[in-house]
Amino acid sequence: MTAIKIPPEHPRAESLRIREKLVEHYHKGVVATAGLIAHGRGEAFDYILGEKTTKPALNAIKAAAATLLTTEKAVISVNGNTAALVAEEIVRLANVAKAKIEANLFYRSFERELKIKELLEKAGAREVLGVSEDASARIPELGSERRRVDPRGILVADVVLVPLEDGDRTEALVKMGKKVIAIDLNPLSRTAQEATITIVDNVVRATPKLVETTGKLKQDLKKCQEILLNFDNKENLAESITLIKERLSKLAEKGEYLTLEDEKHEF
Ligand code: ATP
Repeated sequence: MTAIKIPPEHPRAESLRIREKLVEHYHKGVVATAGLIAHGRGEAFDYILGEKTTKPALNAIKAAAATLLTTEKAVISVNGNTAALVAEEIVRLANVAKAKIEANLFYRSFERELKIKELLEKAGAREVLGVSEDASARIPELGSERRRVDPRGILVADVVLVPLEDGDRTEALVKMGKKVIAIDLNPLSRTAQEATITIVDNVVRATPKLVETTGKLKQDLKKCQEILLNFDNKENLAESITLIKERLSKLAEKGEYLTLEDEKHEF
């Protein structure tokens, strides 16, 4: 398969590059067929959000970093799309937050698990949990292949970071008493609504920002506690939805294409 050449001046160059990356990893067997469709749902919301990290997303990123730093057992759950798009950032996040990495797939096959493990290891991961018979534990009340987890990882985690998740498992993990941090462009999805902390942003933008924020907050646990005390996920999610509403209203009023103002990442 030959990759297409994307002209750098193309107005949607970045979005096209992300698509190409997914298609490439689809052909390599990392991304599932349905992963391409799921990406399309995300893209639609990204378009509406203005393809920028919004203020509520930044607030959620800070709360996510503070949660990761104030917990004993954090696990980052990785699926095909996440591995294809942000393998290196996931490894960096695992290092800075002292979290474990676990492969967890809806469309599970041994070949795909292995490919994801190899991709993460190539990106620097020392250990990838949840592959093959390592996923010997079960999440109760969950029908999908997502229920199979590693007894050293997700099963015993206090916090699970779930980029691009399905709502059923988020709900099941929360029921097990775990904090769930979701990265999901759709603020209306069950995942977004059920998670403890919801980052409404593209995983491609949110993950490096989460690495950076976790690194900055690492030395300041008091600040972490302060952030968590002032964070309300329902309120923050409502802000994302309001932002969409206001942006669409402005577009409808003026009949022109608007971009969101750059938000500063301040501490
Ligand atoms: P739920 O089960 O939570 O209601 P869903 O059925 O939409 O949601 P899936 O199809 O399993 O869930 O997952 C796709 C989700 O991932 C979508 O909500 C989509 O918005 C989101 N998504 C896809 N690509 C990205 C991306 N690059 N960054 C962030 N979110 C994304």
